[in-house]
Amino acid sequence: MKTHLFSEYALCEPLKRAIEGLGYTKPTKVQQEVIPVILEGRDIIVKSQTGSGKTASFAIPIIEKIEWEENRPQALVITPTRELAMQVKEDFFNLGRFKRLKISPLIGKSPFYLQEKELKQKTHVAVGTPGRIIDHIERGTIDLSAIKYLVIDEADEMLRMGFVEQVEYILEALPSERCSVLLSATMPEDIQGLCQHYMHDPLLIEIEDLNPAAERIEQTLFEVLERRKEDLLIDLLAIENPDSCMIFCNTQLKVDELASTLEDMNIYCDRLHGGMEQSDRLNVMNHFKRGKFRVLVATDVAARGIDVEQVDLVVNYDVPNHPENYVHRIGRTGRIGNSGKAVIFVSPAERRLLEDVESYIEREIPRGEVPSRESVLDAAVAFEEKQNERPQLKETKGEKLSEGIIKLHINAGKKTKMRAVDIVGTLCSIEGITSDDIGIINIMDISTFVEILNGKGEYVLKALQDKPIKGRLRKVNKSGKC
Ligand code: AMP
Repeated sequence: MKTHLFSEYALCEPLKRAIEGLGYTKPTKVQQEVIPVILEGRDIIVKSQTGSGKTASFAIPIIEKIEWEENRPQALVITPTRELAMQVKEDFFNLGRFKRLKISPLIGKSPFYLQEKELKQKTHVAVGTPGRIIDHIERGTIDLSAIKYLVIDEADEMLRMGFVEQVEYILEALPSERCSVLLSATMPEDIQGLCQHYMHDPLLIEIEDLNPAAERIEQTLFEVLERRKEDLLIDLLAIENPDSCMIFCNTQLKVDELASTLEDMNIYCDRLHGGMEQSDRLNVMNHFKRGKFRVLVATDVAARGIDVEQVDLVVNYDVPNHPENYVHRIGRTGRIGNSGKAVIFVSPAERRLLEDVESYIEREIPRGEVPSRESVLDAAVAFEEKQNERPQLKETKGEKLSEGIIKLHINAGKKTKMRAVDIVGTLCSIEGITSDDIGIINIMDISTFVEILNGKGEYVLKALQDKPIKGRLRKVNKSGKC
């Protein structure tokens, strides 16, 4: 059944509430195709780009089908990069928020023992990169016996990064009775082989809008000597004066050099590349998403899948070595329903690479005129002004959804044999509170965290000051942010 409304899917109320809270009014094209197929439990191969709403296309039906009571993970999502894993985790968390789903990120360069601890507790969905998932399998810290849904996201990137054998290793460890979903922008032979071998009669869905660039993104090419690129960039930044801009270079060294140059010129920017510590990478990405700084200089680690609301300008400072990365880079702008601008700088030595890009996108990128001195000078004042302005921070989607949710800390946990039923029982005995008002409950060794939804947090907090939980009055207070 294809529908143009979320309300027509057989989805539970908490999920519908999250979809509405995230501001999704109608399913995107890929969602219309994919949601019903996964709801039916059929294997599916999706040929589609990011920025089309593809994460929600698998997250929504999987969340619908997850059984809350089961403690073992029921869905496993494999992604090629840690950033993407964190983003997919975030999307699952937001969509699964009112169903109270627990989502565990399994990524490298972050503490193994914390992931192990989470996996020992209830985990509904595990999202991770191949290496760390394999570590958990080999050390016996993940129980895969209840996996019913497998998602391989950005399969072609997985192949390019040399992860296919690792993915196969993971697939061998999963129960064979499952629904498998594979998403890829292209379908090279190795991926087809993977599908034939590990999927059962999959449906192939191709979303035509393969090149979102063509319609929504205004693209311009500048032919420029390598040593003149810096000046051209500064001029364009002044003229475009973007609120949010991503500049892509091909190497980590170039990113570092260019970011330092911009900083020296008092252009407030930050950088992102694979040579940085994972925590720094995630911090930079989060700050950029929130709009704490306007210009991000990055390698292609930031090109794939990363979802930043409204990037105004994408600069290909170098022509990408892999033509498909051009589409991924410029796809950071012109996200669902928005328009955007992308420019590409081409030095004489890069003309060959440009041919690859243009043949990949099957069109010529329009050539642009280098801006005149006067126009740059005219724009300079407004640019300076914006540089000196404090950026207005954007609310993330999760934060919007968190409005009306308060997290409480209860001074008792596993050591005092506290269980979720004890908490739910007490909360539901408060007048006006039902299980619909209770969010995620996290029971640690000596404390418990529980989310209270629907703006009832303060009321519950007050009530718990003289209401015993599991036979005793407990110290209850508000805990940080949700
Ligand atoms: P993705 O292709 O998964 O990276 O999603 C791109 C962006 O679209 C994300 O910011 C999603 O939150 C957003 N999105 C997903 N589905 C919808 C929808 N039905 N309506 C509006 N935005 C959506």
